[in-house]
Amino acid sequence: MIKSTLKQGEVYDLRSALALLAAYPDELISTDVEADPDAEISGVYRHVGARGTVMRPTKLGPAMLFNTVKGFPNVRVLIGLLASRQRVARLLGVAADKLGFLLKDSVNNPISPVVIPAEQASCQQVVHLASTPGFDIRKLLPAPTNTEEDAGPYFTMGMCYASDPETGASDVTIHRLCVQSADEISMYFVPGRHLDAFRMKAEAAGHALPISISIGVDPAIEIGACFEPPTTPLGFDELAVAGSLRNQPVELVNCVCVNARAIANAEIVIEGELIANYRVREDQNTNTGKAMPEFPGYTGEAKQAVPVIKVKAITHRKQPILQTVIGPSEEHVNMAGIPTEASILDMVERAMPGRLLNVYAHPSGGGKYLAVMQFKKSLLSDEGRQRQAALLAFAAFGELKHVILVDEDVDLFDTDDVLWAMQTRYQGDISTVFIPGVRCHPLDPSQSPAFNPQLQDVGISCKTIFDCTVPFKLKAQFQRSQFKEVDVTRFIPGFTP
Ligand code: MN
Repeated sequence: MIKSTLKQGEVYDLRSALALLAAYPDELISTDVEADPDAEISGVYRHVGARGTVMRPTKLGPAMLFNTVKGFPNVRVLIGLLASRQRVARLLGVAADKLGFLLKDSVNNPISPVVIPAEQASCQQVVHLASTPGFDIRKLLPAPTNTEEDAGPYFTMGMCYASDPETGASDVTIHRLCVQSADEISMYFVPGRHLDAFRMKAEAAGHALPISISIGVDPAIEIGACFEPPTTPLGFDELAVAGSLRNQPVELVNCVCVNARAIANAEIVIEGELIANYRVREDQNTNTGKAMPEFPGYTGEAKQAVPVIKVKAITHRKQPILQTVIGPSEEHVNMAGIPTEASILDMVERAMPGRLLNVYAHPSGGGKYLAVMQFKKSLLSDEGRQRQAALLAFAAFGELKHVILVDEDVDLFDTDDVLWAMQTRYQGDISTVFIPGVRCHPLDPSQSPAFNPQLQDVGISCKTIFDCTVPFKLKAQFQRSQFKEVDVTRFIPGFTP
C-alpha cells in the first residue's frame, strides 16, 4: 500500500495547501493587479497554466492567485491549483507516476467524515442570510464568466454535497453551477450522477433537496470527489477517500439554514435547496446558446431546462478565496483522470494481478476519454489478456472512449513514446478493436447521430482499443536499441538528462 510522505495535518484545507506550494519556486504566482472576473481571469490564466485541450496557445504552469478582483474588495480568486500532475503529487505527498496507485489504495481504505461543532467551523466566520433584504449572490461572490459567450457566471469548483432522502447516504460531486439571479443557481447534471438520483427521489416525493456547495477546500477532497461508479457506487460518500488520503476524517459542519452539512474549513459555503419541479433555461439571461468551456475543448451548449438551487445562505471565512477552474485544462485532467487511473488499476488488478503496470488518463481526453495502459506479457498465455484488460478498463470507467495499450518498455506518460509504439508495433487492420454503440459521455461532439447516423442518441460512441503491444511470440524481434551506459558528467559537468 502506498503512503503519503506528507506529515499528518500538513495539508488539511486550501490555505495549508497554498502554504505548501509557496515553498516551491514554480508552483504558485499571485498578482495584485485588478482583474475582472468577467472573462479576464480565465483569459489571463490560459496563457499561464492551462493545457489540456484548451485553444492554443496554452501552457503548463503555476496556479495563480488574483488578490484584487474588480468589484469584490474582500474576495480573492484562485485558479489552476491542480493544473499539473507534479503539483498534485506534491499536494498528496507521492511520486507523480504513483498517483493512481495512491488513489486506488485510498478508495479501498475509506475514512468517513465527522461533524464538528459550529463554533469550530471556519467556513461560518461570516454569515449572509438570503432572508436579509438586498441579499444578492452576484454582489457577494465573484463567480467567473469564463468566456465572453458563456451563459453567465459559473461556480466551477464547488463540492456539491447532499444526502439520499430515503437512506441518508451522502455524496459529493462537482457540477457546473450558473448564477441565474440574486438567489438562484442552476445545476447541470450529466445523466447518472448520484446527486441527481437523490434530487429525483426528492422531487418524486414532492420535496426540495437540501444541498451545500463548499468552495476552496483541501485538494484531496477535490480529487476524491471525482470518483464515479462502479468504483464508488451509489451510497459511497467520496469524502471518505479524502479522509484516507490524509489519514484523518474530513470535518463537516451543520449548515446554518438548511438540513445539510458542509465542509467545515471551506473558504466559502453556499447553502440551498434544489427545488422540486422547477427548471430554468441555462442561458436565460444572455441567450448565447452556450454554457461554458468544457473539458473536451469545446463550449458546451446551454441546456433548455436545468434544475435550480434556491440559495438560503452564503457563509465564508474572512477574506475568502474563491477557487475556480477552466474546463479545458490540465486541472480537469488531474481531477477526472487520476480517479480514472485508480479505478482501472483496481479492477484489472483484481482480475489479473501483476500484469497492468500503470495507467495514464491522457490530457487530450480531459482525463476521461483516453487511457494509455502499460501492460506486461510474461507468458504466452498472457497474449490477449492485454485486450481483456482494456475491456475491463471500459467497465471500470464508463465514460472512457479510447484505450492505447503499450508494453513495459514504453513510457506511458510520454506521448512521443506512445505514438512511437503505435508506429512500430501496431497494424491498423488487426490491432484495432471496435466496440460500437456503447454509451460514453455526452460532451464529446463526435458522439452524435449527426456525426454517425448509426448512433441512436447523443453520448453513444464507438469505444476503440488500439493494441500497440508486441505479439508475445515476436518479443525478441522488438528489442529497443541498447546503447552503452556511460557517465555523461565526465564530458558535461553538472549534466542531468
Ligand atoms: Mn458518488
